[in-house]
Amino acid sequence: MEDLQQIMERTTRTDPMNNTMEILQGVRLLNPFSAFDGVVDVAIEEDSVKWIREASGEPSGLWLFPGLIDMHVHLRTPGYEEAETLETGLRAAVAGGVTRVGMMPNTSPVLDTAELVLAVRTKGNSLGLAEIEPIPCVTVGRAGETCTDLEDFADSGISCFSDDGSPVESNKALQEALRRVSLFNGVVIEHPEVTSMAAGGAVNQGRASTETGVKGIAESAEYLDVKRCVDILRDSESEARLHLTHLSSPESVQLAYDAACEGLNVTCDVTPHHLSLNEEAVITLGATAKMNPPLRSEKSRKALVNMVSRGMVTAIASDHAPHSKAAKEMPLATAAFGITGLETLLSLTLDVLGREGGMSPLDIIRLLTTAPAAILNIPSPEIASGKKLNMVLFDPEEKWVYSSSYSRSSNSPFFGEVLTGRVLRVWFPEELYREGEFV
Ligand SMILES: [Zn+2]
Repeated sequence: MEDLQQIMERTTRTDPMNNTMEILQGVRLLNPFSAFDGVVDVAIEEDSVKWIREASGEPSGLWLFPGLIDMHVHLRTPGYEEAETLETGLRAAVAGGVTRVGMMPNTSPVLDTAELVLAVRTKGNSLGLAEIEPIPCVTVGRAGETCTDLEDFADSGISCFSDDGSPVESNKALQEALRRVSLFNGVVIEHPEVTSMAAGGAVNQGRASTETGVKGIAESAEYLDVKRCVDILRDSESEARLHLTHLSSPESVQLAYDAACEGLNVTCDVTPHHLSLNEEAVITLGATAKMNPPLRSEKSRKALVNMVSRGMVTAIASDHAPHSKAAKEMPLATAAFGITGLETLLSLTLDVLGREGGMSPLDIIRLLTTAPAAILNIPSPEIASGKKLNMVLFDPEEKWVYSSSYSRSSNSPFFGEVLTGRVLRVWFPEELYREGEFV
């Protein structure tokens, strides 16, 4: 079998007339921005695309697509640096082909003032890795009651807000936040949960709660909050945008989809793990597969895959949630919720939505690039002549073992597993990552 070095030699060369230019030969370009899917040669010079031409030789089998946007990531800094630092989290992002991350605000202190958020963003972006798109709190202290100074954030170009980890509890605060963000095309990202129903639960209510003897969390604890948010949005009679994140229940997706069909600005995402795993994982692996919302029944998992493939889900996001070993090596009922996800995002998503959902690679990459860009109100990444480099070279066939991580944490049920499809190189805008190493 050809090794990586041989593939690289076969598919890349420098132009003999111009040794600062490199040509990626016979790559399958997947460019959702222009809906292009075809085999081409791509010339790059320094930090830009020089030209894109019809392939001169045989297809290399490698794919080239824009850097991914993972709109739901926990970087844990400040406050939980034992689980992740900005540097380890942003390295894990790049290693996973992600060049922009939506950073959730449930840090300590929480990200609820522009001053703190800008300091974190500046520090993160100075590392020259993936870029941070901050998602500050909707409410002060992430307490669900009083809105933060949303316009102050907007003045700094920040327009996405979430109390992730918790829902926006107060109906009044949610209504007010939707009204205020609508004035600057912002979005409220809701973690849908009826906390009074979910409190004390750790696994799916059903087979998982019966088998483990641990309190369950019903799907209704999620979709009843989706319903509440949609009702509040409808009553607001505004153009406000509401995004519902990490939906695990088909009922939730249906409600979000129906709201969008009705003309409301509602979008949603699901995670790769809710598409790839069912509650058997938590029964077998315990806290390693404990997350919020919990892994659901096989019936629900299949329905979710089907709904994504039918275009009812707007985006895919990892909900990368690193935790220290100590936080996970606890009884199932008390261990921390969440799994790491940045480095497995692509392999898992392409596998489940391609193999099982029958989706084309272009449509899957769209869910990870232009779709989250539109939700976050940031420019869509694209690969085009003259554009700065923001792209990933990917081998869809390569098998690899997820056995080491650039994240500080490795709490994942996929750790140690063989995955298919690997990130080979990442440019943003210079080459950052190549063959498993940072350049
Ligand atoms: Zn959440």
